[in-house]
Amino acid sequence: MPVVGGRFVDGSRGGYRRELDIAVVGAGVLGLATTDALVRRGADVTCFDGRPPGSGLSGGLTRTFRNRHDDPRVVRLAVAGRAGYREWERRLGRRLVGDEGAVYAGMGEADTAGLRANGVAHHFADAARHRELFGVLAPVSGRLLVDPGGGAIRARRVIDALAGWVGDRVVPADVHSVTVPSGGGVEIQTTEAIYRARHVVLCAGTAVPRLASGAGFEIPLRQALHARPHFRVREECRGGPLPCWVDRSGEFGEWVYGSPIGSTGSYVLGLIGPDVDVPFDARGALPPGSTMDTRVERLRSYARKAMPGLAPEPVGIRVCVMTKLPVGSDGFRVWHAPGVSAVAGHNLFKLAPVLGELLADTAQSDELPATLREIGDAAMGVA
Ligand SMILES: Cc1cc2nc3c(=O)[nH]c(=O)nc-3n(C[C@H](O)[C@H](O)[C@H](O)COP(=O)(O)OP(=O)(O)OC[C@H]3O[C@@H](n4cnc5c(N)ncnc54)[C@H](O)[C@@H]3O)c2cc1C
Repeated sequence: MPVVGGRFVDGSRGGYRRELDIAVVGAGVLGLATTDALVRRGADVTCFDGRPPGSGLSGGLTRTFRNRHDDPRVVRLAVAGRAGYREWERRLGRRLVGDEGAVYAGMGEADTAGLRANGVAHHFADAARHRELFGVLAPVSGRLLVDPGGGAIRARRVIDALAGWVGDRVVPADVHSVTVPSGGGVEIQTTEAIYRARHVVLCAGTAVPRLASGAGFEIPLRQALHARPHFRVREECRGGPLPCWVDRSGEFGEWVYGSPIGSTGSYVLGLIGPDVDVPFDARGALPPGSTMDTRVERLRSYARKAMPGLAPEPVGIRVCVMTKLPVGSDGFRVWHAPGVSAVAGHNLFKLAPVLGELLADTAQSDELPATLREIGDAAMGVA
């Protein structure tokens, strides 16, 4: 008998109409973190996902945790996110964010305003010390910004831990639609049953705009394909410091981010910038004539110049969907109307512990917490 969640509504033939208090749509890192927060609070919550947890944007082995962001309010959330990861590590008894640190090139004092405003430890180091800070890096000019509290998130381990904690609160069902009928509640049509919930939290990643449109939200989430090759660290550089990396200097011809894959001896690189990803065509495929090869070639060329400690041929490539609001890379927003909330943006893995709590607050109170209201205004360009 499959677990379908919720309670059977009297008079529904065959039990296809059910009711529950809170539904979370999507078992990526945000939906799982929200469900986990609600389960710990004793809430009646069911999470729906038609695929195994972590199959969407949260897939893969590594993500960067960094404290530095342009918006001081996001820095404050990152600090809370890091504290949340420590708490998850305590529950799990295993490390979820490494102590590799994060190093940035091409940053000045103005870029550290958010770190200073939030009392986050950081310092500038003379780039002559590059090998001490980042064992595979070529000589660079200027100064490097060091964020010792950054590190590589063990993404798969996070998903497995959360999925284990929430257990059978995840119902394996696809959600067809979310609508707000007259008469109260929110209707969720799924492959398993039709549910009526008091509150629905949409954490469905790329599907958020479509599902949220049923609740009247217009969510301007851009989606494009992003290439992420990974490279082997050369034998002679193993054991050296291998931090997360953000290069906005342009010294090696590209803006690039990088992250170690745990302690596997592999390192991923990706391009940063407004035009580095390839938009889909109407079929959801690469448009005719376009290819990811040029992006991979740009990263190979970058690795050869900037990171001689990496073997120059990628040993694997992930092609993933990148989602962004018009505000850019670190922008996100939570939309809310009575009975429904929806989250969209980018670079949210690092914030999952704190966003999970804030989304749980939203679901329980049916009000948007002030922190999310302010961030939302900034994301949509409201002063
Ligand atoms: C290449 C890349 C690099 C990144 N780097 C970083 C980084 O360094 N640091 C960082 O913090 N973040 C990073 N991010 C962003 C981060 O991974 C995402 O912001 C985060 O994983 C989003 O999680 P989510 O739970 O919102 O979405 P998802 O993980 O996509 O989860 C949504 C879930 O909803 C399910 N779903 C969809 N439609 C339906 C439906 N109709 N019915 C039921 N279920 C449905 C999907 O199956 C999926 O499991 C990166 C992302 C990418 C792609």
